[in-house]
Amino acid sequence: MVESVKSHASTWCPGCGDFGVLAAVKKAAQEVGIPPNEEVLVGGIGCSGGIHNFIDVNGIHALHGRLLAQAIGIKLANPKLTVIAAGGDGDGYAIGMGHFMHAFKKNASILYIVMMNETYGLTKGQAAPTAPIGYEGNVEPPFDAMLTALSIPAHNFIARTFSGDPRTMTATLVEALKFTRGNQGYAFVEDLSPCVTYNDTFKDWRQRVVDVSKLEGYDASNRHTMFRLCLETMHSGKIPIGVMHRPKTPNGDAQALELKLLPDLIGPANADIDLELNREAYTKLLRSVG
Ligand code: SF4
Repeated sequence: MVESVKSHASTWCPGCGDFGVLAAVKKAAQEVGIPPNEEVLVGGIGCSGGIHNFIDVNGIHALHGRLLAQAIGIKLANPKLTVIAAGGDGDGYAIGMGHFMHAFKKNASILYIVMMNETYGLTKGQAAPTAPIGYEGNVEPPFDAMLTALSIPAHNFIARTFSGDPRTMTATLVEALKFTRGNQGYAFVEDLSPCVTYNDTFKDWRQRVVDVSKLEGYDASNRHTMFRLCLETMHSGKIPIGVMHRPKTPNGDAQALELKLLPDLIGPANADIDLELNREAYTKLLRSVG
C-alpha cells in the first residue's frame, strides 16, 4: 500500500531563520521546474531537520549525522531524482563530520543545505561546533565550513547564504539545483540561519556579512583566491557569504559519482527487477560506496 502524507504546519519558533530556507527551497524548486514527485528531501536531526515535514515532496527523516549517506544512496538508486539533504550544523559538523568530508570527494549530484545557527536549538541551546568561544561556556574555536569545503579539490558547487537575504538565498539555491540536476556534482550551501530562541544572531550577522562577489579579485573558479578572501574577511571580524566555488568547466576529469558508476543513469530502482541480470552492476555499486 502506498500512503501519501501531506505536509503540516511548521513547529519552529516564530522568527526562526529556518523559515527563510523553507521558503527559498520551495521557490527555487518551482523556478527550476522540479516536479514534486521527482524531488526528495532528506531531513537531518534537530529543529531544521524537520523541514521535510513542511513541504509537499517525498521526504525522509534520516538518522543523526547520516543524512548524506541516505541522500547519496537515494541518488544512486534513482539518478533521475533531485535529492536535497537538509539539516543543522550540530547534525552535520559534529556526529556527521565524517560523512560531511567524504561527500565532497564522492561528488554525487545532490544538494546539501546546512542551516547554521551555532547552537543545538532542539535540546535547548548547547554550543555547536560552530559556536564562538564564550557561547555557553565554549572554549574551542569555531569550525568554519567554507574554509573546509574550499580545501577539498573536488568538482563541487560551494556557497554560503543568509536567511536575512531570502532573495539571494533563492538565487543561490536555483544555481545549486541546476548544478545537481545537470549531473555536475555535489552542491553544498551553508545558510546562516539564526536560532532566535537560544542564539539570536540576526542583528549581529546582518551587520557582519560581506558578499564575497563584491570583493576585489573575486574568482569563484579559483579555490586559492577564495580561501584567501574568506580568511581575510574573517580576520576583519566579518562573515563571508556568496558563491565560494563554481567549477569553470562542466564535469572535467572529476565526474559526478552517478555518472562514474551508472553511465546510462539507470540506477537499481529503475533497472530490470531480475536481480540475476543486474547482479554484477549492483555488486559493483555496493562495493564502490561501501
Ligand atoms: Fe529555530 Fe531555535 Fe526555535 Fe529551533 S529552537 S525552531 S532553531 S528558533
